Amino acid sequence: MNPEQNTLSATPRIVVAIDGPSGSGKSTTAKGVARRYGLAYLDTGAMYRAVACAFLQAGIETTDIPRIIEVTRAAEIEISTDPDLERVVVNGIEVTQQIREPETSAKVSAVSTVPECRENLVQRQRDLIDGAPRGIVAEGRDITTVVAPDADVRILLTADPEVRVARRKIDVGDKATHADVVDQVLRRDRDDSKLVEFHKAADGVYTIDTTAMSIPVNIQAVCDVVAQVTGVKA
Ligand code: C5P
Repeated sequence: MNPEQNTLSATPRIVVAIDGPSGSGKSTTAKGVARRYGLAYLDTGAMYRAVACAFLQAGIETTDIPRIIEVTRAAEIEISTDPDLERVVVNGIEVTQQIREPETSAKVSAVSTVPECRENLVQRQRDLIDGAPRGIVAEGRDITTVVAPDADVRILLTADPEVRVARRKIDVGDKATHADVVDQVLRRDRDDSKLVEFHKAADGVYTIDTTAMSIPVNIQAVCDVVAQVTGVKA
């Protein structure tokens, strides 16, 4: 056997697309899978959130769609694709923390429900995916269907709404009230599903229901699907 076949460089490039609603566990799971396979990681939601920070910084109202489109097109977004480094910079300002603030979560739909904004961000996401030499795990709402429908592995993570709200409450701690969290999860889901279908799996997409699963179990379940489809073990 050629010894090179055993080296990491001989591993085929793998693109894994993961979609799911808020609280389905997709970010933590996607990062874990990226680490296990030595792949890059792309949090596409962070890009929508970065644009929300940019329009909020500019003092633009959520109703001012033409200016939100302008801000989206002009935004310089730097996003880390290292699963161990969370860093997002928009127009030279680091917004790594700010993208997670309740205000950003509450306003991000003003970007994601506008087709022109989506089109712009989808193109950037495709470029980031194409630019990952060893492959990438990309997660969001429309990765399996719009951004990377040709991904090697496509997975939809789901979970019951009560469980998703409970998980998000743990994530945000005392930064948000129960009503804020319900808004962040359930109202955002409704808004988000106006333009994108992420509750039902498209053809060829594997569904994993994480309702009763812990994060390590989620990660293993996704790795099992990746191994089954690509023949490459984590
Ligand atoms: O995944 P996360 O909750 O951080 O995403 C933030 C928001 O970005 C979502 O509520 C949704 O409006 C938008 N989004 C999207 N398409 C994606 C990823 C995120 O519309 N692929």
